[in-house]
Amino acid sequence: MRCPACGKAASTYRRFFLTREGASSDERRKGCLRCQHCSTLLRIARYHNQMWYLLVAIAIVFFTFLFAFVQALVASIGIRATMAAWIVFALVWVLVFTFGLWKYRVLEIVDEQNKPAEKATA
Ligand SMILES: [Zn+2]
Repeated sequence: MRCPACGKAASTYRRFFLTREGASSDERRKGCLRCQHCSTLLRIARYHNQMWYLLVAIAIVFFTFLFAFVQALVASIGIRATMAAWIVFALVWVLVFTFGLWKYRVLEIVDEQNKPAEKATA
């Protein structure tokens, strides 16, 4: 996603996944982050439609796997290998989901000057 202030990518996936993206924990709870280029405080306004398509696609794959393949998998490769495949699948699911959260968020600039006086310690 692009920073509306400077037009560059506001954050990387790695930064999103591993850090608070420059925001305080209080700001983070409100869905805020800071642009990695210009340090503007940004808020997640909404998510692109692709995010919801992605969620539907994940759900379809998930239920297809659950209902169509689990029994066949257990029969052919055994319960342990099926469990391992399930764990790998769950990890991929989390990665795809968080990637979508990072990629498809729409950011807006937070007006820090007009914010109520609540961040005295920041
Ligand atoms: Zn920026």
